[in-house]
Amino acid sequence: MKHSSLIKPVLDGEYPMISHGKGVYLYDTDEKEYLDAASGAVTANIGHGVEEIATAMVEQAKQVSFVYRSQFTSEAAEALASKIAAMTDDRYTWSFFVNSGSEATETALKIAIQHWQEKGKPKKNRIISRWMSYHGITLGALSMSGHPLRRERFTAILESYPAVSPPYCYRCPYNLEETSCGLACAADLESAIRRIGPDNVAAFIAEPVIGAAGAAIAPPDGYFPEIKRICEKYEVLFIADEVMTGFGRTGKMLACDHWGVEPDIITFGKGMSGGYTPIAAAVMTDKVIEPILNGSKSIMGGHTFSANPQSCAVSLAVLEYLEKNGIFEKAATAGVYLRNLLDKLASRYSFIGDVRGKGLLIGIEFVKDQKAKEPFPAGIDITNKIIGLAADNGLLLYPAAAGLDGVTGAAIIISPPLSINKREIEELIRRLKNTFSQFAETLLSEPMT
Ligand code: PMP
Repeated sequence: MKHSSLIKPVLDGEYPMISHGKGVYLYDTDEKEYLDAASGAVTANIGHGVEEIATAMVEQAKQVSFVYRSQFTSEAAEALASKIAAMTDDRYTWSFFVNSGSEATETALKIAIQHWQEKGKPKKNRIISRWMSYHGITLGALSMSGHPLRRERFTAILESYPAVSPPYCYRCPYNLEETSCGLACAADLESAIRRIGPDNVAAFIAEPVIGAAGAAIAPPDGYFPEIKRICEKYEVLFIADEVMTGFGRTGKMLACDHWGVEPDIITFGKGMSGGYTPIAAAVMTDKVIEPILNGSKSIMGGHTFSANPQSCAVSLAVLEYLEKNGIFEKAATAGVYLRNLLDKLASRYSFIGDVRGKGLLIGIEFVKDQKAKEPFPAGIDITNKIIGLAADNGLLLYPAAAGLDGVTGAAIIISPPLSINKREIEELIRRLKNTFSQFAETLLSEPMT
């Protein structure tokens, strides 16, 4: 091949070329149909090929696609900020728009540090994050990410922000039981803050449901209220990375809403545009922005394409679509239906260790031995074997890391568009069953010791 978009040169063999998509289905140029049970990268939340989004795109392009954020705001950008404020019950009235989840978490980090500078506390500049986390690929975001595989090559130039154990109950870092653990993993944040010194800590960042680095790990119910209490006690800002979970993925607008917890800063991405355009945001409360507005007046951040009217208009159309079609409620109902069918399916296969998650963000962790929770031997890429078999069956799944070291475990995420209906869920299960049965046969014929 003389040219390549360099999107996926790492995949062995032919890389299918996609031609178009409709609803939960994608079609390649050989007319093969894929049920997109991953929403791409947990992104295509309203499904593919929605006409009214295309219309909104064209209408905005006819008006104006680009203005530079330091010269102008635009009707689209203001309408989007106002929509996000309304969708969060006017709790997050300040939005800073960027282009990717990584940029959003980088921006959140900088806002937190700037917040304390403007309050006369410049020493409060450390961030604390958890192991088994993913906050993005740029250097600040990767510094916060407790994802050993993605950090590995760059550790020399990264900050060591991950310092706290994840709430990974399937393999509790403390070998405790969920019912009697006393939330030792939340208490670990308090230890970390004390060790580093509250005067040096700007913020704690966490994904409400751990995505790529843990395959949909939802914490015990008391976890985030306790995290919030600790953050308040030590004057540490709480940043919720809702890039994967925001805008209905877990059946509510924010995943944090499941526990009634209000972060100081929230990052959005992915579902904010459903994949129809690159856009993301760091949004914040009055309390966070006030010292900045009273001080240097502007957030030290931003990119050329920040808040471009084209992306803002598309995102706005997607958020209106979510509301108009009651997608959050649909996702909650579909999540329960899919989860029940997955639990039933899982009971038939000895290599399924755990099914977990919230709403339509569901993880499956694979093990060699169910009782001992023993992972498959290192070096056998179980995740990609299953993902490959699934693709042959016309089913797209999302790969995830698992295991306390984020390396030894094999796992997938199932996260179809939030608009998926009952019939499509049943079709997803049919294709997954074929995939798992074929994988079980492989295990019998070539046991992976
Ligand atoms: N935060 C979370 C929770 C994510 O899941 C991701 C992407 N998987 C990111 C940040 C980074 O987003 P992006 O790939 O758009 O930079």
